[in-house]
Amino acid sequence: MRKSTLGLIAALGIATGGSALIAYAQAQDEPPAQTVPEPPKAPKQTQRQAQAKQKPNIKILATGGTIAGAGAAGGYGYTSGQFKVEDLINAVPGIEKLANLSGEQVANIGSQDMSDEVWLRLAKRANELLADPKVDGIVVTHGTDTMEETAYFLDLTVRSRKPVVLVGSMRPATAVSADGPANLYEGVAVAASPGARGRGTLVVMNDEIHAARNVVKTNTTNLETFNSPNRGEAGQVHAGTVTWFEPMDKRHAQDSEFNVKNLDELPRVDIVYAHANMDATMIDAALAAGAKGIVVAGVGDGNMSKAALDALAKAAKDGVVVVRSTRLPAGMVMRNAEVKDDELGFVASGELNPGKSRVLLQLALTKTNDPKRVQQMFREY
Ligand code: ASP
Repeated sequence: MRKSTLGLIAALGIATGGSALIAYAQAQDEPPAQTVPEPPKAPKQTQRQAQAKQKPNIKILATGGTIAGAGAAGGYGYTSGQFKVEDLINAVPGIEKLANLSGEQVANIGSQDMSDEVWLRLAKRANELLADPKVDGIVVTHGTDTMEETAYFLDLTVRSRKPVVLVGSMRPATAVSADGPANLYEGVAVAASPGARGRGTLVVMNDEIHAARNVVKTNTTNLETFNSPNRGEAGQVHAGTVTWFEPMDKRHAQDSEFNVKNLDELPRVDIVYAHANMDATMIDAALAAGAKGIVVAGVGDGNMSKAALDALAKAAKDGVVVVRSTRLPAGMVMRNAEVKDDELGFVASGELNPGKSRVLLQLALTKTNDPKRVQQMFREY
């Protein structure tokens, strides 16, 4: 979409009644102040250079989503992934005080179209950037629909102590009270916080910080949609001030064994949703499509009908890795409760929901298809 930055900011200004945003945009257009040249024998840093040195260098990798979405001002419908990364940065007054920012457009899609190909590209780029001593952290702008899956994928594949923070928005940039600018501001503040180091990939939305492994989208439209049902938030952020809670005890980031450097694709893993009157049709379809792994979004504690159980038991015998997760929003899937995992060669997902189980199983299958080893990974990561 060819819409100028000023257009976005004006739209935001109208939508939010924020004349400060318009004033900010105008200030951005003014020519930089003239500096008097220093005498050659005493080369001194300008104040701006000195400040730039003290601030962390944060790279913003944009992938699209509602945060870059546009529709009629104040209207209902919109299209994800319309604005570019520079537009998003320029729409946030004061963000330049938090960090030295630069942006890269990795994709510009609604996250419902997120794919293994974009994941691999994103993870490789993040690893490259964070290996550079001049880069202190990464913020990824992303749609909220599959944010929890991308966050967990990056958590397992970006092998660095430096922070990776995902931000998005529930309302498009053109909506009344768009939440994208505030979320981007808070996301940069979190990525710039020394306490973010070693915490792996985080999601920052609505003043809350969530660990990638725990976070789940729970509401279709509400701003308060992200939740960490089993373990709670990783911290909170208010107007750029960050408060950290307990770090997580699971392997990730710098401690991960998964390396995507030489991977061009990921093994196929399908999710099958359990329900009353379930037969084996969807399981047979996944196997026919070439699935190397199947995750069951089970009822209750990862249960499923006898017909599904028999089909999956056969698949496991044939070398397909079967993970039992749950369609419920919280709780653990326990080994050998109602299903005899030891006997059938199944894996229990523990705290991981079906989407995250799929991510871990895809990466696990790049190493092994031994269900015992995969179960160990589900305990550790
Ligand atoms: N469908 C959008 C996406 O995931 C929703 C959002 O970003 O909130 O890209």
